[in-house]
Order: sequence, then C-alpha cells, then structure tokens
Amino acid sequence: MEFKQNQRPGAVKQITSHSNPIVKEIKGLVAQRKHRRQSGLFVAEGLKLATDALEAGWGVRYLALGPEARENKIALEAAAKAKARGALILEVNTAVLGAITRRDNPQMVVGVYEQQTLKLSDIDPKSATTWIALDRVRDPGNLGTIIRTGDAVGATGVILIDDTTDPFAVETVRATMGSLFHMPIVRCTADEFVEFRKSWPGPVVGTHLRGDKDYRAVDYKEPVILMMGNEQAGLSDKLADTCSDLVKIPQAGQADSMNLAVATAVMLYEVRRNYLKL
Ligand code: SAM
Repeated sequence: MEFKQNQRPGAVKQITSHSNPIVKEIKGLVAQRKHRRQSGLFVAEGLKLATDALEAGWGVRYLALGPEARENKIALEAAAKAKARGALILEVNTAVLGAITRRDNPQMVVGVYEQQTLKLSDIDPKSATTWIALDRVRDPGNLGTIIRTGDAVGATGVILIDDTTDPFAVETVRATMGSLFHMPIVRCTADEFVEFRKSWPGPVVGTHLRGDKDYRAVDYKEPVILMMGNEQAGLSDKLADTCSDLVKIPQAGQADSMNLAVATAVMLYEVRRNYLKL
C-alpha cells in the first residue's frame, strides 16, 4: 500500500481541521458499510477497545488521541505500541473526535483497525467447544451483545450465516465492549453451512419457537454448535433441517418470543454450564 508523505505509518500527525482527508476517511468508515467493505478497516471508540485490540494483536491503521489521552499514561502506552506496529498516530482536538464519531461527548481515543474474519474451513472441530451460529442477524445491538456474551461464557466463536448486520459497524463494535477482539468471527452462506455441517462431529442445536424439546433436556456434547434464528423470521427451514435437535425455552407470560440476544444468553448459560463456576 502507498502512503502519502503525511500518512507515513509509524508517524505522528496533528489534525485540527474536520476537512482533513484522514478525518474524512474515518468518518466514511463510521458512516458507511461500503467504505468498511472496500477498505477492510473499521472504527472502534475508546481506550479499553484500543488496549484490547493491541493485546489481541489486531492490525491498527490509525490511533486518534484527544487532549485528555495525551495526558493519560495508558493511552500513551497504547499509542507507543500502535506506532511501533506501524500505525499513524493522530493528535486531534475534541471537536475533531466528536465529528469522527458523531458524538457530543466523544471517547478520548478512537482507533481504526483491520478487519479479521475467518471461513468455515478455518474451524477446527477438535479444538472447538461451543460455536454460536446466527441466521441473518439484523440488529447491531443484538450481534454486539451476543459476541460479548459468547466471550463472557468462553464460547469458541460466532458464525454469521447469510446476509447479516455488519460486525464491524460502530454500533456493533460498541456493544461488544471489546469482546470483538477476542472472539473469532466466521462468515458463510446457508448453503456453505449445510455442507460444512455434514462433517461436523457434534450436535447442532437449533432454537425454535416450534422446538419439541425443553432446552434443559438436551445433551450439549462438545463440540456443539448453537444455532439462533433471525429476529423477525426465526430460523430458516433450510438451517432448521440441519439441526440434530430443535429446542425451545419455555415461557409463561404473554410474550410471543424472547429477544434474540437474551435467548442466546439463556442458551449459552445452559450449554456452558460446566464451565461457569465462581
Ligand atoms: N417470529 C420469530 C419466530 O417465529 O421464530 C421470532 C424470532 S425470535 C425474536 C429470534 C430468535 O430468538 C429465534 O429464532 C430463536 O432462535 C430465539 N428465541 C427467542 N425466544 C425463544 C424461545 N422461547 N425458545 C427458543 N428460541 C427462542
């Protein structure tokens, strides 16, 4: 990749103007999936996410530090680490940080990172315990919450099937609270999943409102794939047919169903029961 003189990797650059080309580039990454897809980059706000990304070894392109960050030891250490890895460090004012993230009270650090996703062929069933598969998840908050919950219970990773919301959208990344940097994400089509499933050595447990088993009555023998349906349409017939079991979480009130992220959390606490000790 070619860099313009003032965009040399591993350098420090001061920016005060909203119309600076790098500021425009970062704003584009925040605003449009098209820009994230084309560049393979994404934006994550906050010092915690910067330290998570750096610790987990993700590629970092830019780290923008506001005035507060330039007085903060941890932020300066993160900047030194990012710089050593070739990132361009941007010293910006609060107004520029706010413009980038479209927030009145922006975080003191904003990073631009390289996206990382895997293919189904990268999954090793021998080292897997619990994969979470999501059929066409649409809501960024749901996806971010599921990635965070999966990380909290020590799941192996998340498989995104067919057309899903962007795991690298700012809202999703925000909701993961840094777990995005610790959870492998696989992307595939439903047909690819159906093919992959044929050689999967463990159960594939789907959650379905027409499930015929109580979710507490199933043996989640490892490696297991937990399959969750779309927020509106539920699990597609094609994916439901690949499941070894279709389970339901019993309900007692008037609600038709539970929120996807909440249902995933309930399931994960059952599937991962033996790992979750105080
Ligand atoms: N109208 C959809 C349907 O008919 O399936 C509702 C989908 S629900 C909001 C989204 C997903 O959360 C479902 O596909 C399923 O994976 C999971 N889910 C929610 N409540 C559930 C329950 N009580 N039992 C099993 N799965 C549930």
